Amino acid sequence: MTQVYGRVALIGLGLIASSMCHAMRRAGLAGEIVGYARSQETRDIAREIALCDRICDSAAEAVDGADLVVLCVPVGAMGAVAAEIGPALKPGATVSDVGSVKRTVIDAVSPHIPDGVHFIPAHPLAGTEHSGPRSGFTELFDNRFCIIVPVEGSDRDAVERVSNLWRGMGSNVDEMDPDHHDLVLAVTSHTPHLIAYTMVGVADDLSRVTDSEVIKYSAAGFRDFTRIAASDPTMWRDVFLNNKEATLEILGRFTEELFALQRAIRQGDGDHLFDYFTHTRAIRRSIIEAGQDTDAPDFGRGSAASK
Ligand code: NAP
Repeated sequence: MTQVYGRVALIGLGLIASSMCHAMRRAGLAGEIVGYARSQETRDIAREIALCDRICDSAAEAVDGADLVVLCVPVGAMGAVAAEIGPALKPGATVSDVGSVKRTVIDAVSPHIPDGVHFIPAHPLAGTEHSGPRSGFTELFDNRFCIIVPVEGSDRDAVERVSNLWRGMGSNVDEMDPDHHDLVLAVTSHTPHLIAYTMVGVADDLSRVTDSEVIKYSAAGFRDFTRIAASDPTMWRDVFLNNKEATLEILGRFTEELFALQRAIRQGDGDHLFDYFTHTRAIRRSIIEAGQDTDAPDFGRGSAASK
């Protein structure tokens, strides 16, 4: 694989940034990888494990001379980070991000991008419930989608270059507009996370079932919910605060369906339940056919899962 950028700066050094370091190195996509994280502790760990070629003690220093800057911080922090780095960006450079929500990130970051610098937002649909600089791994993006979300007037060459970087890291690349992205993700990721958080909370609340029983008898259904509900609280708080409308719309529909199923159970309407579950089973089959999960009995979950 050929080099796509001379110098890449990663701002935030958690799961996504550290996986990008490993994946870029595997394919030789960057001449130099420079990193910055807000806390001394994370910077020290990054230095200790030699995550990047160079770790800087300020975001402005990290982006100095970078051809590509990728914002890998929680969605709610993107605007403040962009304000900090804006004046230090190299003319002709590209700024991208990996945030799980796109519309509010675009609104928060765009005003800080100087003329002559490209802003090409992106979102890799890959993650685990782990966070921090030690949690990344080379294969995280393999065969996962990365959605590129060009903004109005985005330079096509700059879009292609960011897309090539993600392809080089193993991803399949698609383009979407920001509002559609946020709606799709509300269905496929954000609302399911909220439901998992709720289910784990309900089990925890239920005094008739003890904590030890919940843990001891956690068969696949509940166990899967606990994995999702162990995801980073800061990241997910920011996702819901920033994808309010789409998540609330999908939650409204979810509640209606739940009530319909509740009524079917109360009325002993087995046909309704059977038809519903037959339909949902077909959706699972199409996800496997699309290569986005395996048919293994434990839901095919190894270390990585789509988010
Ligand atoms: P992570 O492992 O928790 O790492 C977050 C990084 O951001 C850390 O280096 C942290 O610095 C830094 N940070 C946190 N708050 C900050 C603030 N207020 N200002 C500046 N830096 C701050 O997170 P991640 O999972 O890599 O997620 C990063 C981004 O990727 C998020 O926008 C998320 O929505 C998106 N994303 C996540 C997933 C996923 O499944 N995890 C999937 C796709 C996209 P310190 O360590 O110094 O605190």
